[in-house]
Amino acid sequence: MTRYDVAIIGGGVIGWSCAYHLVKRKPGLRVAVLERCASCGRGSTGRAAGGVRAQFGTAVNVQLSLASIRAFERFQDEVGAEVEFRQAGYLFVTATEKGAEHLRRVVPMQQELGVPVECLDGPGIHDRASYLYADDLLSGAFSPADGYLDPHAVCAGYEGAARRLGVVPLYSTEVASLDDDGALVVAPAETGNRESPSPAARGSVGEGVVRANEIVVASGHWSGDLARRLGLELPIEQEIHYLAVTEPFEGLPDLVPMVVDLDTGFHFRREGAGLLVGCKFRSVGGRFTGGSVPGSPVGAAASSALDLRADPPFDNAFLERLAEVGPPRLPLLSEARFDTRKGWAGYYAETPDGHAIIGRIGDFIIATGFGGHGVMHSPAAGQAVAEIILDGECSSFNIRPLRPQRFAEGDLIRETMVL
Ligand SMILES: Cc1cc2nc3c(=O)[nH]c(=O)nc-3n(C[C@H](O)[C@H](O)[C@H](O)COP(=O)(O)OP(=O)(O)OC[C@H]3O[C@@H](n4cnc5c(N)ncnc54)[C@H](O)[C@@H]3O)c2cc1C
Repeated sequence: MTRYDVAIIGGGVIGWSCAYHLVKRKPGLRVAVLERCASCGRGSTGRAAGGVRAQFGTAVNVQLSLASIRAFERFQDEVGAEVEFRQAGYLFVTATEKGAEHLRRVVPMQQELGVPVECLDGPGIHDRASYLYADDLLSGAFSPADGYLDPHAVCAGYEGAARRLGVVPLYSTEVASLDDDGALVVAPAETGNRESPSPAARGSVGEGVVRANEIVVASGHWSGDLARRLGLELPIEQEIHYLAVTEPFEGLPDLVPMVVDLDTGFHFRREGAGLLVGCKFRSVGGRFTGGSVPGSPVGAAASSALDLRADPPFDNAFLERLAEVGPPRLPLLSEARFDTRKGWAGYYAETPDGHAIIGRIGDFIIATGFGGHGVMHSPAAGQAVAEIILDGECSSFNIRPLRPQRFAEGDLIRETMVL
């Protein structure tokens, strides 16, 4: 039986980026990606909005973003896939003094680290985005290097390049536990509502064990549960987020930035001739909770009520919330129609401080907990994991704040610019 140098659990954008960066750095390394589904990107990756931004509230997130944006700019040349990276910019706006104070605090830090971000006042926001209602806006921040891309294309791009370099995909293969010899115990996967169970699908190893010198946990919002079965504690909780797509409508320029109203979480970007739209939302009715509403109970409540292998159900009350917070900021939205079949919900893998977990703990390397920024941080995360495995530590960025041990040590840093 093959003993791999590295086994990566999870074939989402993070797992495949780790695989790609490993074999790119060290051709010939025997790497396998173990994925429960029959193809890549079926977890949160396939549910993402594709936003990419360097406007974050902590230095570590800004640095991961800057490195990742550079990677996305070169993606086609280096990885060999088109990911439709449109650098239309991100425009954050706020009508509250608290929000303005927040931007006054974080923008200088971002600028110092090299983000080409500028602060805007109300008239400045109107000049840049005249389609917004800006009379009440106190402050904004715009970076033209930010933008959005196709999340699945990023994952498939890394997968294709990694496989060309020899990485072995073990699809329809679920990791269940660890045996006494430290091998991964695997079984043919039974999947949720996105596909039929397919034990004989390509690459499945069926029941048995997979042996590897290094094991990477990149299993997204399932990582907390999986970690327990591997004998680890990882504080990952599932948080439900929703997105909706409008029908095409007139009146907006072809290129609009991703606009984010910091006060409501209302955000939108172009999706064809319409818009992809989201906002902070907490589902009512007691069945499940979600959204980034401060204080919103998440995790256990959501987990107990839902089949976590399937997508969370779409809640039409989300559209009602959008109708409340959207048009006051983007008046044209009141003329747009939403196709309820084109809305969806997905899970964030959330940590207590809103930061990913990257680093070694015990016999494992962890790369998970990316909340709403795993697609945009996937290039840097993959590079970091490759350096940890091949060099013993990551030297390209200071990822110490993301180490798994920080929870036990009580050394958390809170990210404030999350959607
Ligand atoms: C609505 C929504 C909008 C978002 N918008 C953005 C955005 O604009 N920008 C951004 O950067 N990010 C965004 N995100 C977040 C982004 O989708 C995630 O951070 C990212 O996809 C995480 O990738 P991952 O590889 O860690 O997890 P996943 O994509 O979930 O992949 C994990 C994989 O592990 C597999 N797996 C789990 N357990 C096992 C097991 N035991 N054995 C084998 N396989 C297993 C799963 O099947 C899955 O394929 C959004 C997410 C949602 C839900």
